Amino acid sequence: MARFRCRACGQEGEFTYIGGHECPRCGSADVQFALGIDEMPVELIDRIIESLSQAESLDETPTDEEDR
Ligand SMILES: [Zn+2]
Repeated sequence: MARFRCRACGQEGEFTYIGGHECPRCGSADVQFALGIDEMPVELIDRIIESLSQAESLDETPTDEEDR
């Protein structure tokens, strides 16, 4: 689910995001959306995950191969 707040009609709430940039109530473009992660573009999520994994790779992960 995504949340919206419309400045044209003053309504806010949850709706199913299907694309577009209009208020689901009145159709105005003067609306703010807050998308859940389900509605994010996959490539954007991939980019976030990629940058996170790159940051983690700075840490040396201990291997089980080493002598104990
Ligand atoms: Zn509206």
